Amino acid sequence: MRVYILTDLEGISGVTLWSQCGPSGGAAYEASRRLLMSDVNAAVDGCYDGGASHVVVLDGHGWPCNMVPELMHPGAEYICGTGFPAGWGMDEGFDLGMQVGAHSMNRTRDGVLCHTQNHTTDARYWYNGREMGELGQGAIEMGHFGIPCVFVTGDEAACREATEFFGEHCVTVAVKKGYARQCAQLLSPATTRELIRAGAREAMTRGGLVKPFTIDFPAQVRLETLVEPAPDEWTWEQIEGAEHRVREGVCDNALSIYSF
Ligand SMILES: [Zn+2]
Repeated sequence: MRVYILTDLEGISGVTLWSQCGPSGGAAYEASRRLLMSDVNAAVDGCYDGGASHVVVLDGHGWPCNMVPELMHPGAEYICGTGFPAGWGMDEGFDLGMQVGAHSMNRTRDGVLCHTQNHTTDARYWYNGREMGELGQGAIEMGHFGIPCVFVTGDEAACREATEFFGEHCVTVAVKKGYARQCAQLLSPATTRELIRAGAREAMTRGGLVKPFTIDFPAQVRLETLVEPAPDEWTWEQIEGAEHRVREGVCDNALSIYSF
C-alpha cells in the first residue's frame, strides 16, 4: 500500500507559539523542525508497521524547507522546497492519505495556532457555503485522486475537526490540548511518538471505511480577509472588530482551490 503524508508545523508536538513556526524564530524554529521530524517519522514507522510498501511525505508548512534531511526516515521520500506542482505529487496510485501536524480552521477558540492559510489576515474560506480549514482543503486535494484521509494528528481541536469532516473511522491522535490560540497543554514528544506510531498503524486498516473527501465542482468559493493584517498579539475581539473584505468566485476543480 502506498501512503501520502501531508504535513504542517502548527500541530506538531511541542509547538505552541507563532514564533516557533518560522525562520524569524531562530533557535525556537530550529527546534520545531526537529519536533516535526519526530512526529513525521513516527507516522512513517506506523505506516510500515501496518504494511505500507511506499510512503511519500510533503513538507507542507509555509516555509520552503522545514524538514531536516539528516533526520529523514530511510523508508520514506520527501517532497520539499517551493513551487509544488498541482496535486503535490499525488496520483491515483496512492491508497491512503494522512495529515500530520494539523491545526484547526481559523477562529476555533480552543484551536492551537488555528488559522486557514494566513493567520495575519484572519482568512476564512467557504466552499459551497461550508466553512473549511486546511484539513478540509488538504483532503479535497487527496480526494481528487481518490485517496481517503485516514489519519490526522494535531491538537484536540484539529482532531475534532477531522472527525467532523472525514467521519468517525478516520483515526486521530491529539498531541496537545488548546487553552488559547498560543497556549496548550502538551504531551511530551516521547509520548506522542508512540501514540502517532500506533495511530498510523491502526489507520492503515481504515482504507475501506473512510471515503475520499470531495465537494461538488464547480464550487462556489467565498474568501473573507482583513483589509489590514493583524499583529500576532491581537485578541479575537480586536481581530473580529477590524474591517474585513469578501471575495467570491468559482473554482472548477480540486487542483485550483489554492489559486483562489
Ligand atoms: Zn503551517
